[in-house]
Amino acid sequence: MYSAQEIQQFLSEKSAQLNACRHHLHQHPEIGLQLPETSAFIEKELRSYGVDEIHKGFGSSALVAVIHGKKKSDKWIGLRADMDALPLLEQSGVQYASVNEKRAHSCGHDGHMTVALGACRFLASHRDFEGTVAVIFQPGEEGYAGARLMVENGLFEKFPIAEIYATHCEPTLEVGQIGIDPGYIMAAADIFTIDVTGRGGHGAKPQVAVDSVLVASQIVVSAQSIVSRNVNPLQGAVVSFGAILAGDENGSSVLPQTAKLIGTCRSFEPDVQDRVQQRLGEIAEGVASAYGARAQCHYTRLYPALLNHEQQALAVKEIVRNWLGEEGLKPAPQQMTAEDFAFMTQVCPGCLFRLGIRDPKHTASLHECEFDFNDEATVYGSTLMVLIALNRLKAVNA
Ligand SMILES: [Zn+2]
Ligand SMILES: [Zn+2]
Repeated sequence: MYSAQEIQQFLSEKSAQLNACRHHLHQHPEIGLQLPETSAFIEKELRSYGVDEIHKGFGSSALVAVIHGKKKSDKWIGLRADMDALPLLEQSGVQYASVNEKRAHSCGHDGHMTVALGACRFLASHRDFEGTVAVIFQPGEEGYAGARLMVENGLFEKFPIAEIYATHCEPTLEVGQIGIDPGYIMAAADIFTIDVTGRGGHGAKPQVAVDSVLVASQIVVSAQSIVSRNVNPLQGAVVSFGAILAGDENGSSVLPQTAKLIGTCRSFEPDVQDRVQQRLGEIAEGVASAYGARAQCHYTRLYPALLNHEQQALAVKEIVRNWLGEEGLKPAPQQMTAEDFAFMTQVCPGCLFRLGIRDPKHTASLHECEFDFNDEATVYGSTLMVLIALNRLKAVNA
C-alpha cells in the first residue's frame, strides 16, 4: 500500500493546482441543490484526472466519481464532499473573493470539494489497490438536505458502498490537526411553530378577552423547563425560540386573537429528541388550556443527529495516530449544529472527521462573512481521505 508520506508528497507537488481549483470554486459560489457552474467545474477536473466513471443525477447537481483499483473486488468505499455555499456577503478580503452577489463559501465547502479532488487525483493515478472508491460531490448541505435526496435517489443501491467518510473544516483546530471521535458529534436539528389562538379584544377590557400574547409568553417561559427538568443533565438538548409574532406595531390597545412562536430544538440521542418534541407539545397545549386558549405545535425533524460509527471512527483515529502522531489527533467536540451527512451514516457505516484550518490568518468562525478555508489544510485533508479509502478497502476486503 502507498505510504502516508508518499501520498502527502504527491499531493504537495500538486498543491498549486489544487489551490487554484479551490480559489475558482470560492470565487463562484452557488447555493442550494442546483449548482450548475460548480458541478461543471468539478466534472472538467475529474475528467482531466482520468477517473473511470462520472455519474450525475440524484435529483440535483450531484456528481459521483468512480475509481477502480487494479485488483478486482466488489467492495466499495465512499468519500463525500459537500458543494454548496451560503447566502452571505463575503468580507474575507481575499483576492479570489466571491463575484456572485450575496453568495459566499463561508462554511468551507470549497475546501471540502478541493480535498476530494485531491483524493481523486491521487487515486486515479495510483491504482495499486483492491476494490473501488466512489467520491461523492453533494450539493444542498446548508438546509436543503441534499444528502437525503441522494440517499432517496438510490446512492447506496447504485453503488454498493460498504463504508462512507466525510470531512468538515474546523477553525478551532490548528492546521495539521484532525478531530475524530465515535458517537454523536452533531445534533439533530428540528424546527417548530406553535400557533396560539385566544380571543381578541380591547387592551382596556382584558377580562372579556383571552390574551394570546400572555399565553405565548407563558409558553416560552414554561418551555425552558424541558431541558432543565425533562432531559437527563448528562445528555444535551436545546430549545430556542427565534421569533414571537403577534399583533401590530400600531395596535397598542388591541389584544391580538392569535400569536405564533417559531424556534428550533437540538438533541443527540433519539430518546431525548422524542422527549423534547413530546414535552414541547404538551406544554404548549397545557399552558394554553390553562388560560382558556388553544395551542397547536407543528414540529418538523430536519436533519438527524450525526452518528460517527464506532468501528469506522476508531479506524480513522488509528490511521491519524500512525500518520501524524498523538499531537495531530484531537477529539471531535460535540456541537449543537447539524450536518446532513447524518442521512448517509443512518444507512451506511461511516464517520466525519474535523480538519484543522486554524493559523494566525484563519481564525474566523464558520458562517462568518470573514471566513475563508485555509489552503494549507488541503493536502492534510486529501491525504487522510486517500489513507482512509485504501485502509478501509483493505479492511473490508480482508
Ligand atoms: Zn455550514
Ligand atoms: Zn458546512
